[in-house]
This record gives sequence, structure tokens and C-alpha cells, in this order.
Amino acid sequence: MDKELSAINYFLENQDALMEQYLNVLRIPSVSTDPAHKKDMERTAEFLKDYFEKLGMDYIEIFPTKVHPIVFAEKKSALPDAKTLLIYGHYDVQPPDPLHEWNTPPFEPNKVGDYIYARGASDMKGQIMASIFALESVLKTNDLPINVKFIIEGEEEIGSPSLVDFLEDHTELLKCDMILNPDAGMISATQPTIVYGLRGMVYIELRIDGPKMDLHSGLFGGNIANPANVIADIISKLHNPDGSVAIPGFYDKVRPLTPEERELIAMAGSLEDSYIKLTGVPRLYGEEGFTLLERQGARPTLDVNGLYSGYIEEGAKTIIPAYAKAKISCRLVPDQNPDDIYRLIKSYIASIVPNTVRAQIFKHSLGPAYLADDAPGYENLANALSETWGKPVTLKREGGSIPVATNMQEILGVKSLLTGFGLPDDAIHSPNERQHLPTWTKGVQALIRFLMSFAE
Ligand SMILES: [Zn+2]
Repeated sequence: MDKELSAINYFLENQDALMEQYLNVLRIPSVSTDPAHKKDMERTAEFLKDYFEKLGMDYIEIFPTKVHPIVFAEKKSALPDAKTLLIYGHYDVQPPDPLHEWNTPPFEPNKVGDYIYARGASDMKGQIMASIFALESVLKTNDLPINVKFIIEGEEEIGSPSLVDFLEDHTELLKCDMILNPDAGMISATQPTIVYGLRGMVYIELRIDGPKMDLHSGLFGGNIANPANVIADIISKLHNPDGSVAIPGFYDKVRPLTPEERELIAMAGSLEDSYIKLTGVPRLYGEEGFTLLERQGARPTLDVNGLYSGYIEEGAKTIIPAYAKAKISCRLVPDQNPDDIYRLIKSYIASIVPNTVRAQIFKHSLGPAYLADDAPGYENLANALSETWGKPVTLKREGGSIPVATNMQEILGVKSLLTGFGLPDDAIHSPNERQHLPTWTKGVQALIRFLMSFAE
């Protein structure tokens, strides 16, 4: 306990100087998608390398990739059989555009009240620096109880094109017992959060072919099945009136929410009003019997993502289109198998396609869902967070996916601890991105507690 406190005190006493370093990294416009910022990407990697050198890390290297370099650093514990923690981060940021909507320039960090405004303040330079400062605070005051490795890439905002190859080529270097990914945020400033579930995906394309060319609707209408009508009919049969997916077997493997999980999810409160405001829809919609957050994270969905047929230019043209196409994707949850779901969709559609047209289904991509309440280090992190905020952690199932976490599990064999100290209203990817400093300060303390929890 005393050891933990000495590390926390180090952080609190040096907070101003550390904050200055956080502001310095925010000043570098590391926009990964814009080739004009290539030098800034290198500068950011160098900044991190210099900082790691100052901390006395045992091994530091900037690995070039085809796009932007990856920074790696490692500090070994003196303990003989210390566990190894790998911390993931990305130092690249989204473009700041539209610039005129910023109240102050995006790369001149500006402190107003409890917030620091700058591109990357929340996503995720703030989270990287929080992790580094936590390590620094422990190193300055204690014997490091675990080995700590950092992998910080510069391509997350452009889909991490170099990461999978890098992971595959450096499995020994990246070998670890636990992975911390602080790129997932909190539900609110008072609710420390661990994201423990991510949805998977099946993405297909359906093509309905009718006549070999577009036909005159006056001459042929009524005697030839219209592919546009047919595809609309098929799509209408993919859902039941209660909002559930109509494909037989679709829900067979879905892991039901336990009463405890439902209780934990409910602790996040109701987000219905904010969703209506955010999206501009007149009313929300969804599968009956589930709350918004349950639907978002724990229930599978099926949606048409694109629809194409016939004449879609200005004015009118009277045709029976030759074909119709729909892009359709499903978000999957544990324990749905993407291959099984793909086969179920295919055979269901085949069973409802009329024999007046030809149907084809193409597979775009398949990916499994991810459940990480058993990620190594989970208890340590949950305790560190709840001790810092003085309340139990909120567990969240995310509606999207975090490919980095899936890739790391596949290649390194370790599930990630997904957390972070950003808030839903941080405006990440938008003008006036900000980080809530009181939350960030607590975040550093929680990470110190997390690191020190391996001392016993
Ligand atoms: Zn991010």
C-alpha cells in the first residue's frame, strides 16, 4: 500500500512537469493519412523514443514500416519470474478538418477549465502518456514488479496496414502474459469502464439477375420478374415484425446475457435521448425485449449497407432492370460462428428466391466476435479502477470491433484488457477534441495501482 502511494505521490507532485510533456506531444501534427505529415510522424516516434530513453528503458527501437514507424520499448523487472505486460497505443491522429470549426488551433493545446483541447488529446496521445507516466511514477519510487513492453504504432487511424505483418515477424519480441489497450473509453467520468466484448462480422453481397438486359417496362412489365422487386421482397423477409432476424438458426449459438451482466450493463443508465439527438431520427428502433446497450453490444444484427438496381439518375426511365444488388452485413456476438452464419444466410435466401430469377451470394469478409472478461490481468485492472473511482467498474460490450485486439489474440495468443480514460463527449475524430483532465489524472493513478498490483 505504502509503495503504491509513493508512486501516486510522485505523479501528483510532478503533475505540472509531466503535463508539459503531454502538451508537447500534442503539438506534433501526426496525421497518418496525409503524406504531408510524414516528417511529423517521424518526429512523434522520436519524441516517444527520447522519452523512453529518459526513463531508462532497457531496449528501445523505432521499426520502420512501409507507411509509418512503430515504436517499441521494454523495461525489465529485476524479479526472477516477473510477468510481462504489453501496452498497445497509437501515436497517429485523425485529420483536424474542418479547421474553421475549431475554437483554437488543433495542434496548439489549449487548457480551458477541466479540459485540454487538441487533436489527439483523447484519441489517444492522452492515453499513451497516461500509461508512460504511470510506469515512470513506479520506476522513480519502486522496484518494477512486472516487465513492461510498449508497442505504439502510427497507422491506427488508417486501418493499421503494417501491424499484422509486424506482429507476425516479432512474436518473440512481443511475447507477453497480458495486453493493455487503453484506446477504449469510459461511459462517463464517474464510471470506470472495461470493454469486455466486441462484435464480429459477416459481410455478403446478394445479386439477383433477371433478364439479360434492361427491358421496356411497358412491353415486358407484368410478364418478367423484376429483380428490384424481388430483392426488396427478399430483404423484407430477413427480419420478423418484432425486429429480430428471421433467418432460421441465427440465434441458436448466441450466448444469453446473464442477469448479472444485464444488471451491470444497466448501470450505464439510459442513452436513448442522447442517441435520438445524435442521430436525428424521430424514434429509436430495435429488437424487442432488449435495452439499447444490450442490443448494441450483446445482440446480433443484420443490416443492408447498400442497395443498387435500375435507373438511379435524374428524371424517369421506364425499365425492368436486368439485375439488383444488395450489400448485407451482420454484427455477430459470442458464440456465433461466422462460417455457420454465412451458411445459414445463404441457404435461407436460396429457399426464398423465386425460380423466375437467378441469385448469387458473394462473401466479403467474416470475423468472429470477441469476449475478454477472462483476459489475463482482468481482476488486477478491475480492482485498480474501482479503488481509484471508489465504485465497481462498468463492464461494456462494444457494438463495433477493435481489429488490433483480435489480431493480437490470433497472433500473440493473448486477449487484451480494453479500457481508457476518454469520455463519450470528447469529440474524438471531430473538431474541438478534448480530454477531461480530472478523469485523466485518475486514469494515471489507476494505471499505477494496476502496475503495482503485481508487487504482491
Ligand atoms: Zn484511437
